Amino acid sequence: MTEATDTPFEIPHGPVGVTVLGATGSIGASTLDVIARHPAIYRVVALSGHRQVERLVEQCLRFAPEFAVCADSDAAQRLAVQLKTVGSQTQVLSGSEGLAQIASLPQVDQVMAAIVGAAGLFPALAAARAGKRVLLANKEALVMSGQIFIDEVRRHNAELLPIDSEHNAIFQCLPVDCAEGLDEVGVRRILLTASGGPFRNASREELARVTPAQACAHPNWRMGRKISVDSATMMNKGLELIEACWLFDTSPERIQVVVHPQSVIHSLVEYIDGSVLAQLGNPDMRTPIAHAMAWPQRMASGVGGLDLFDIARLDFSEPDMVRFPCLRLAYEAMRAGGTAPAILNAANEIAVQAFLDERLSFTAIPVVIEKTLETISSHEASELEVIMTDDRLARGAAEQLVAEGVS
Ligand code: NAD
Ligand code: MG
Repeated sequence: MTEATDTPFEIPHGPVGVTVLGATGSIGASTLDVIARHPAIYRVVALSGHRQVERLVEQCLRFAPEFAVCADSDAAQRLAVQLKTVGSQTQVLSGSEGLAQIASLPQVDQVMAAIVGAAGLFPALAAARAGKRVLLANKEALVMSGQIFIDEVRRHNAELLPIDSEHNAIFQCLPVDCAEGLDEVGVRRILLTASGGPFRNASREELARVTPAQACAHPNWRMGRKISVDSATMMNKGLELIEACWLFDTSPERIQVVVHPQSVIHSLVEYIDGSVLAQLGNPDMRTPIAHAMAWPQRMASGVGGLDLFDIARLDFSEPDMVRFPCLRLAYEAMRAGGTAPAILNAANEIAVQAFLDERLSFTAIPVVIEKTLETISSHEASELEVIMTDDRLARGAAEQLVAEGVS
């Protein structure tokens, strides 16, 4: 057998320009790792980080982008000084304007949207409005403003490619053209897999004593702290359920969450003839990243082949929505519609941060979210202003619940 070529395609009009939003994070690092394997195909035009100046300096020296952005203005000043000292040509920008600018530069073809949380919404929207290929890791953007986001992608002829491993898997299991909806292509339902997180088998009493360090130690994936806690509460699967509804234009009833602790099957699509297509691979985000960047072609990602003999068995079970109420809350918020998912997301961000700061117990996270959803009324989500107002109100209500010591 001959060796497969790492980059089996050529780019006729020069290298593909890429902006990596959230370059200093886990997805950002994996993206740069993939890009570094294909220097003839991709060129890093811009990078962003929040406050991790040293990391960003290293990345700027390695990839020589035209622009680097620190969302935080003090960090941007430090970055500019450090880059100047080492003779870098990279121009430093700051704040949300800087993020929007690097997401929409004319020399940029693809934007990796890998900022965590609501902060990632506006830069991802800017990329969509500039008609880019949006590589969407930031699931919170679709959870908050699904309809608006999808409409902007269509209006500006942007391409939206899912990076979240499950959604990327579903995308790979669907026919290329399913813009008319899942019914038109004979899909019966989507099976969204979940690892179940580090506390899959923990009792309620054990869950009450969980520490941030334990919650951030995911058995299969190395990820940022917020998504690690989301995986442990299963809110990550809840956010992904909402994300899948928007990406694949379907309802929560057509999506079954399946707990699959090995994280080898990344999700499945069931068709009306009984066929079930799955995408499998080692749990490494470089696979969906390389897939989405090269689509509709393929290129090497650095991820090795799957050793089925080593894996030997795959397990599946139903999710437990009593021990993991976050998943139930996400189903309910999506069914309620309007700004309910944005309220859910905002309350979750506050509760997770409070848990990471040891101001809230693990089992109080869903309590804060549920009470916030009861307190803040949802509205029609047709305007970004309405969504951002409800996001702000939800954050206030959730902070108050944390301060009151809800449990
Ligand atoms: P991370 O915490 O490792 O990185 C987050 C990035 O966002 C960093 O570059 C950070 O500097 C930046 N950032 C944080 N707050 C910011 C702010 N207020 N303004 C601007 N930038 C800010 O997170 P991650 O694990 O890389 O996840 C990033 C996104 O991708 C999340 O939305 C997550 O849900 C999604 N995602 C991650 C994985 C994974 O395996 N890590 C998988 C699927 C989806
Ligand atoms: Mg995922």
